[in-house]
Amino acid sequence: MKLDGKVAIVTGASSGIGEAIAKQLANEGASLVLAARREEKLTDLASFITNQSNGKAIVVKTDVTKKEDMEQLVEQAKQEFGKVDIVVNNAGVMLLSFMKNDEVDQWSQMVDVNIKGVLYGIHAALPDMLKQESGHIINVSSVAGHEVFASSAVYSATKYAVRALSMGLEKELSKTGVRVTNISPGAVETELTHHITDEEVLNMFKDRASSMKALQADDIARAVVYAVTQPDYVNVNEVVVRPMQQ
Ligand code: NDP
Repeated sequence: MKLDGKVAIVTGASSGIGEAIAKQLANEGASLVLAARREEKLTDLASFITNQSNGKAIVVKTDVTKKEDMEQLVEQAKQEFGKVDIVVNNAGVMLLSFMKNDEVDQWSQMVDVNIKGVLYGIHAALPDMLKQESGHIINVSSVAGHEVFASSAVYSATKYAVRALSMGLEKELSKTGVRVTNISPGAVETELTHHITDEEVLNMFKDRASSMKALQADDIARAVVYAVTQPDYVNVNEVVVRPMQQ
């Protein structure tokens, strides 16, 4: 298996894309450190990985908006498995709303989870990766980090920020042995939209529901596996995965 002996942290592993990434990395032989706030979901996933895939996985209850939680996450990964090779900064929230509706608390939450969460992941993992002269940081941005649409202004701002962080990091780390990949998914069928409260956005979604077949979380997980299983000298910097228009 291509990732035998590798240790991977996945944030937002309790559902959707993060869960699929964790399963596929485990299938390739990586030991998994599963992070999110819903511990029960992570424990179920860890059991699945150990029982079904014969893999190794631990659960670390983590709020990515807390710097100390992210430091503790990396610490526990090192205690259990000795090192960290791959960090997937995947946790995110998409609380779409029209700016005129002034959902200021939701704006803050998106900034905290989507931007600060990624920054704290880099902060916690990068020093050891630089010391070991190897590692791979995967940041999950979005097609909304390439395009802005009505109601996505703040969400897009956070995802443009994630891309900017990936692009800067990739250039800074080009001679260090640490690789950086930015993944930009289009619409994927997950729980992501379940937390939207803006009625205008929900109505807009209803109108558009049948025009597109969404991607599955596994489609994105395969892109992550592709990036992390390349030879050491290959740095896959940006992967955009969109659904075909119907
Ligand atoms: P889900 O809602 O299924 O998953 C989001 C994950 O983020 C959950 O595991 C959730 O775990 C975690 N999370 C949210 N807040 C926090 C927090 N404060 N601390 C730790 N974990 C947190 O959505 P997706 O799987 O779709 O989303 C994964 C990523 O993919 C996000 O960054 C999203 O922006 C991005 N993306 C998704 C697209 C889509 O269409 N689905 C398209 C483009 C990008 P918990 O609640 O247990 O903490």
